Amino acid sequence: MKKNYHKNVVKIKFLGGVGTVTGSSHLLMTPKSQVLIDAGLFYGHREEFYRANTTFAYTLQRINALVLSHAHIDHSGNIPTLLKHGLRCKIYTTSATRDLCKLMLPDSGKVQEEDFKYLKKISNRDRRSGRRRRHEPLSVHGPLYTQGEALRSISRFRPLSYGQKFRLTNDVVLTFFDAGHILGASVVVLDVQMDRNLLRLGYAVDLGRKDLPLLNNPTILRDLDYLILESTYGGRMHSPISEAKEKLREAINRTVARNGKIIIPSFALERTQEVIYFINELLKEGTIPQVPIYVDSPLATKITEVFRNNIHYMHRDVRELVQKDSSPFDFLNLTYVRDQLESKSLNNDKRPMIIIAGSGMCEAGRVLHHLKNNITESRNTVLVVGYMAKDTLGKKIVDKQKIVKIYGLEYELNAEVVVINALSGHADKNDLVEYVKECAPKKGVFLVHGDEDQTRSLYETLNSSGISCLMPAKNDEALLFEK
Ligand SMILES: [Zn+2]
Repeated sequence: MKKNYHKNVVKIKFLGGVGTVTGSSHLLMTPKSQVLIDAGLFYGHREEFYRANTTFAYTLQRINALVLSHAHIDHSGNIPTLLKHGLRCKIYTTSATRDLCKLMLPDSGKVQEEDFKYLKKISNRDRRSGRRRRHEPLSVHGPLYTQGEALRSISRFRPLSYGQKFRLTNDVVLTFFDAGHILGASVVVLDVQMDRNLLRLGYAVDLGRKDLPLLNNPTILRDLDYLILESTYGGRMHSPISEAKEKLREAINRTVARNGKIIIPSFALERTQEVIYFINELLKEGTIPQVPIYVDSPLATKITEVFRNNIHYMHRDVRELVQKDSSPFDFLNLTYVRDQLESKSLNNDKRPMIIIAGSGMCEAGRVLHHLKNNITESRNTVLVVGYMAKDTLGKKIVDKQKIVKIYGLEYELNAEVVVINALSGHADKNDLVEYVKECAPKKGVFLVHGDEDQTRSLYETLNSSGISCLMPAKNDEALLFEK
């Protein structure tokens, strides 16, 4: 039987990141080529995590090219798994995304290796105590990939610049444009040549927002036939970004006035650098006191180094600052804490200070010992600058639970809790609708990357404006062109 891709049709298959926000992956199938767009890690409980990330609804060896939009793990995190299972092609992305993946993918490998070790420990304990063995797939197969395997996958990466047209395969030309989402993130155009016909597909997953600190605004894609669009906040609106800086200023001033410490649990990629940028601005404006600031996360420190080396990807204001020899990531009061001893010594320092530490959701990392040492005192502040998922310690702090558990011990939460929601890197409902109207795809929009209620809300809004759109399900295929 002849396969579909030998006929004169162009199709897109929605492999993952539909009806949910993790595991983004899509397959463009033309008569001459198969192009994978993103290979994100699907997040779920261990068994589902292993199964979903190792089940492929296509033949890996047949993929001609992988196009990577950005370094977030839900878009890039399954690349080492694919390479382990037979993917042979090159991976095209921007140089900043490659540099970030060089840190993010091994970090993801490390998390999996540690989880595997933990499972092995439990299973050995069960065996010794005669308890029935729990057969978790991870304890049988090992981690999806190790740190070493993740690092090796970087040799497949081929960097391209924004605006550079690149012939990906015989019939597909790729161009990246600035997505304004995180450093190096792209919205993508794929031009498919079918004899005399040209099909132009746009991909904006994820799409940033206007006026984010550090980044340029998202690029409007032109002359599209179709647009694949994210819908993370398809039914919600963000507070203006200026509100973040204002709330940060108020919280720092209030806490320093009562001689307290400000603990900021922060994601290593983008959010940490944004917070540093705002604090630097506030210091220069003289609207906060000259307190010491510590970045206490080895990953965030390394990622900030990537930011320093990729200033050309950033907004003109940042480039101008750097030209004036005034890097927003290096200033007098700012210290990057490198070892654990230095990290622990901050507990004995009773001066008011700002500590930015990971992990973002307070599930692991050095932020835990800073929380343990500071949340019981009402003079201190926990400043939340990112999304906290259900059941995480971060969410319990946001919910201001009276008692929280850290390393198995109970602590009273007496510190002030301030939540800043204005720093999201995703377009909100209005941004998404405006983006669709500006790009004006001639044939339709596919809505992906959103929880169902968010995607549906955007679908209804677009539909009511007369814009043709679809909400594909996992493994659905859509016909884009037929001759
Ligand atoms: Zn993203």
